[in-house]
Amino acid sequence: MPRSYDAIVVGARVAGATTALRLARAGMRVLLIDRAGYGTGVLSTHAFMRGGVVQLARLGLADDLVAAGTPAIRRTVIRYGDVDEVIDVRPSAHVDALYAPHRAVLDRILIDAAIRAGVDVRFRTTLTALRRDTEGRVLGIEATGADGTSLEAHAPITVGADGLRSRVAREVGALTYERGTAASSMVVGYWSGVDVDGYQWLYGTRQAAGVIPTNDGQVSVWTGVPRDHFLHRLRHRPDLGFHEVLRAIAPDWAAALAGGHQHGPLRGFLGIPGFLRQPWGRGWALVGDAAYFKDPLTTHGMTDALRDAELLARAILAAADGRDSWDRALANYQDTRDALSHDLFALTDRVATFAWRMDELRPLLLDVARAMHPTVDHLLALDAVAASAEETR
Ligand SMILES: Cc1cc2nc3c(=O)[nH]c(=O)nc-3n(C[C@H](O)[C@H](O)[C@H](O)COP(=O)(O)OP(=O)(O)OC[C@H]3O[C@@H](n4cnc5c(N)ncnc54)[C@H](O)[C@@H]3O)c2cc1C
Repeated sequence: MPRSYDAIVVGARVAGATTALRLARAGMRVLLIDRAGYGTGVLSTHAFMRGGVVQLARLGLADDLVAAGTPAIRRTVIRYGDVDEVIDVRPSAHVDALYAPHRAVLDRILIDAAIRAGVDVRFRTTLTALRRDTEGRVLGIEATGADGTSLEAHAPITVGADGLRSRVAREVGALTYERGTAASSMVVGYWSGVDVDGYQWLYGTRQAAGVIPTNDGQVSVWTGVPRDHFLHRLRHRPDLGFHEVLRAIAPDWAAALAGGHQHGPLRGFLGIPGFLRQPWGRGWALVGDAAYFKDPLTTHGMTDALRDAELLARAILAAADGRDSWDRALANYQDTRDALSHDLFALTDRVATFAWRMDELRPLLLDVARAMHPTVDHLLALDAVAASAEETR
């Protein structure tokens, strides 16, 4: 007999753990599965933008990040060629600093909170198929544990938070209705013994890099180049490309890394153009990278995944409580996501072309910064609405 839940979530990282946590805190019985193990890392750098910190604070988890020793980021330095611009982080509601938690730290904080909220979490459990009724409505999942045990579960809604290459999206045939044109290839590594004050974003001609302070006294360092360039020149020597880029646009940082201690190997991400997918249908929804991906160069994926987990959880709760129909609630999720994502999606795609001159880049990055405001405003407005509903009770 399949087990029965109010919601099933596939993928237990930023998007999935947060969606499951929100639903369980509202009293839902939630199953959360992931084919990976508890506390494992994932290829990503770690920079949260303001909306991400707002959402972590709204979830009551910002203190956990601080308690885990995640350094506070109080400034951003952007290097345009050979000119550095220093921008101090402006304190605002819920945000007196930004944070860049290591993924093993962040994902554990989210999962632990989900477990405390009562989510039934199964690691090393892989989705193998979706179950549907005769009309195609998704009824639940079939999954297999690492020891070969099988799991069948049913729920009114199955959420695919299973990342860029989402199996759920593939199985339901989710339509991609907006596609980017550009992709950057990134190489990422970790060092300790390197002094850094805040996020460092470093831009040169057709190349970029970043230095991000994270947990355990480490910095995460990435370099990015157009995907075509990487494919033709660097694919078989990503380490060479990494150091070449760094020496070219940030010899000071190249020297600092040479004096530090490297942890683990460099890892590469080939890159794909961004996309927006249809994020819901009968009995299913998508969230996080599974639904909406944009080039990592503007470091917004986790911030947007947290935001969209909130939007989706609200839609599911509205439908499950009978305050709205499933179709209207989920269509509202899609409309809000698209409205909040549209500008950032297009701007990120322009940054990822690397086809800007240095004098064009500053206005472009200012537009990127402005495109974050609607997400922050939207998240803060949710609390204002809740507070006024409370007052009128
Ligand atoms: C190189 C790089 C650097 C980045 N840097 C930043 C940054 O600095 N800041 C930022 O905000 N974003 C960054 N991003 C983007 C960010 O990593 C993603 O947006 C974010 O991880 C998306 O989270 P998610 O929960 O949607 O998906 P994921 O983190 O991809 O999680 C998906 C989960 O689904 C599980 N899964 C997949 N298939 C199955 C299956 N069949 N059954 C069970 N489980 C399954 C996987 O095991 C995985 O745990 C970066 C990305 C890359 C590649």
